[in-house]
Amino acid sequence: MKSCVIDTLEVIGGQCNALYPEKPIYDIPAHPKILASELIEMLEAQASPFAPNYQLNQRVEKIVKNSDDSFVVSTSKGINIECKAIIIAAGCGAFGPNRPPLAGIQEFEGKSVFYAVKSKAEFAGKKVAIAGGGDSAVDWAISLAEIAAKVFVIHRRDKFRCAPDSADKLKQLAAEGKIEMVVPFQLSGLSGNSGKIEKIEVVNLDGAKQELECDYLLAFFGLAMELGPIANWGLNLNKNHIEVDSTTMRSSESGIYAIGDIATYSNKLKLILTGFAEAAAACHDAYKIVFPDQVFHFEYSTSKGVA
Ligand SMILES: Cc1cc2nc3c(=O)[nH]c(=O)nc-3n(C[C@H](O)[C@H](O)[C@H](O)COP(=O)(O)OP(=O)(O)OC[C@H]3O[C@@H](n4cnc5c(N)ncnc54)[C@H](O)[C@@H]3O)c2cc1C
Repeated sequence: MKSCVIDTLEVIGGQCNALYPEKPIYDIPAHPKILASELIEMLEAQASPFAPNYQLNQRVEKIVKNSDDSFVVSTSKGINIECKAIIIAAGCGAFGPNRPPLAGIQEFEGKSVFYAVKSKAEFAGKKVAIAGGGDSAVDWAISLAEIAAKVFVIHRRDKFRCAPDSADKLKQLAAEGKIEMVVPFQLSGLSGNSGKIEKIEVVNLDGAKQELECDYLLAFFGLAMELGPIANWGLNLNKNHIEVDSTTMRSSESGIYAIGDIATYSNKLKLILTGFAEAAAACHDAYKIVFPDQVFHFEYSTSKGVA
């Protein structure tokens, strides 16, 4: 079978890469201890002989079933993938940035408000406001201070949740006047024209407001997960999980499977280990749908080899 892997994130690896890449995992069979990011690297290497087609940075929006029971999976980038079976391994839903709750922010998103930095050069000579108190906010403040005309760091406390070295460097750059600390403040509004920010409004706990003139806002408030369009795909859901037959991982719709954290059945364990076994069960069952005229001969990898 050929496979195409679609994810909203820019990298594969789901929660392991997005939430805890540097944490050691202790319950992966044959690895007494392995970093989450290393596990994903090794899984990618193990999958590579089968040449999966990775379609990243896009969300699956729609699934349509054709009259011949095949499917068309459509993504937010406008890509349509034709397939005979679908395996949903969507965890708790698609990852996306936590957005600051500012009226009208959508108008500025992707033009002068960003939740990640794609090209540092874009900020050269510009006035950049960075909001947040974690590693991303601090690291980008330090990095952009080298090239931006002005860097504001907006945070609601004067303590930062970042590596101690980075916190020291931030303080030093602030003392040298290369970064202006706007603490303890939080974002309360923004204004501008045609998607281009002109001013940001911040407020402190006493309600005192301040306006900052800037060209860009970078907001680093972490990632959120939302079920998103999966709820509209006509599958049996149980508290935002997809109900499956635990022997085959079939959902209520023939040809659509669910595995991993999003799949539910009696006594389900949300573990990576469980997800591996569920993936194998779903693939074995899907084979009959993908190749209905072929008899599947079960073989161990030790006999069959790779690819
Ligand atoms: C801090 C932490 C520590 C953990 N430690 C362990 C541990 O030690 N051992 C263990 O076994 N488990 C651990 N877990 C749990 C483990 O990470 C999860 O069980 C596992 O990641 C589930 O994998 P998954 O593929 O089902 O979902 P996820 O890893 O959540 O991946 C789902 C992916 O689907 C994408 N997605 C969702 N909807 C869409 C859509 N519509 N279009 C495109 N993409 C979409 C998401 O962006 C995401 O990347 C831990 C979890 C956390 C948060």
